[in-house]
Amino acid sequence: MEASTEPTDAPAAASGTPPSPTPGEADRDVARAAGVDLSVSDAETPFSMGLSQDQRDIRDWVHGFAEGVVRPAAAEWDEREETPWPVIQEAAKIGLYGFESLAQFYADPTGLTLPIVNEELFWGDAGIGMAIMGTSLAVAGIFANGTPEQMGEWIPQCFGSAEDPKVGAFCVSEPDAGSDVSSLRTRARYDEAADEWVINGQKAWATNGGIANVHVVVASVDKDLGSRGHASFVIGPDTPGLQMGTKIKKHGLRASHTADVFLDDCRVPGSCLLGGKERLDARLARAREGTRARSQAAMATFEVTRPTVGAQALGIARAAYEYSLDYAKQRSQFGRAIIENQSIAFALADMKMELDAARLLVWRASWMGRNNQPFAAAEGSMSKLKAGEVAVWVTERAIQILGGNGYTREFPVERFHRDAKIYTIFEGTSEIQRLVIARAISGMQIR
Ligand SMILES: Cc1cc2nc3c(=O)[nH]c(=O)nc-3n(C[C@H](O)[C@H](O)[C@H](O)COP(=O)(O)OP(=O)(O)OC[C@H]3O[C@@H](n4cnc5c(N)ncnc54)[C@H](O)[C@@H]3O)c2cc1C
Repeated sequence: MEASTEPTDAPAAASGTPPSPTPGEADRDVARAAGVDLSVSDAETPFSMGLSQDQRDIRDWVHGFAEGVVRPAAAEWDEREETPWPVIQEAAKIGLYGFESLAQFYADPTGLTLPIVNEELFWGDAGIGMAIMGTSLAVAGIFANGTPEQMGEWIPQCFGSAEDPKVGAFCVSEPDAGSDVSSLRTRARYDEAADEWVINGQKAWATNGGIANVHVVVASVDKDLGSRGHASFVIGPDTPGLQMGTKIKKHGLRASHTADVFLDDCRVPGSCLLGGKERLDARLARAREGTRARSQAAMATFEVTRPTVGAQALGIARAAYEYSLDYAKQRSQFGRAIIENQSIAFALADMKMELDAARLLVWRASWMGRNNQPFAAAEGSMSKLKAGEVAVWVTERAIQILGGNGYTREFPVERFHRDAKIYTIFEGTSEIQRLVIARAISGMQIR
């Protein structure tokens, strides 16, 4: 990939590769020019609330794609309720969708590039955004639990190629195991003679379920151990025994495919157990002895992804805020712009304040996650909880500001509101996030 430190004002669709981040360098140039002594700060990252030039370049590049390609296609794919393959192909072509770009976004040591990219893309449209970013949940599942060899083998397959992009799916939820992941019933049994795992069960609400090239499936290998007996498996393309169930018709995120997945004597090679058998056996032995496990298969994935999911909610909220701010300046009633009424202007002030507050939580958690800081007070959950609730609240306010127009499909804010609602439900409902935070801060088993 070519490195670029030039700002990109042109829409992303016109440019071939994402600018590569060398975070902090531009900031340091400014500081040096101002005569600041940087001799100490090279060893320790200085605190900064500003984005580096590279982060701003990537933000503008993704924004160009969101504005020029995603936003104009949003209403159509929402109505069609189909995966927007042409848009995914376009994203792959410019290097926004693919293994290299995700790795590059993740490489930013501040952790901010990934949430910035997600916010911009979801500002364009959340349904299409999820069609593009849903794969990253499967990638996170492999990243959180896999060996370096497994990452090298499977993560690129989640994306396919720029010419022929594919998607990945992460399947943990089941009809009777949503918030209570520990009760999942999908079982994986090891067939030692064949060195194969045999997986049986039903997964529910899987993003890209059944249409993915790679499914990452969480299953129980020892039901007596609850979630400590869970393990993650990769299921490659065209594996017999994996079948898509009903495709689900949804309230929002309708351009993103959601479906049940059936696993019926689905056999995968022993090497498809993420982390490998030796590590699993050691973990199970510790669990049987009652030693506390460091993390569980599904939870390890969610810890990595929650701030990014929060950033997606922020993108929707910002879209609604900006749209309603413009509308309030243009719409006139009683001989004046409606924004001249304090009730409207103050609502917009609160919307902006809540958005910015949520972003700070998302960025903090992203920085912590990237720099291996433990989420001692469940900061990852905090960020997703706050951003999700802000998105629902801000988009509802936006409908109110647009009045009757806000309630119609002629205007995008009703779609923003429908899309926002899922952010208080998936990747842990708001109630479950509060539970996680309450347990973290109290050290007690709050129920
Ligand atoms: C569009 C969409 C995409 C999704 N994508 C995926 C995916 O890719 N992969 C995947 O594995 N799953 C996915 N899911 C599933 C999603 O993660 C679950 O729906 C979610 O975890 C909630 O589970 P549930 O729906 O079974 O709700 P339930 O667990 O039945 O909860 C119902 C209500 O009870 C509350 N509740 C439950 N337990 C408690 C408690 N202890 N204390 C307080 N309140 C409680 C909940 O907060 C909620 O309000 C997706 C869902 C949707 C709708």
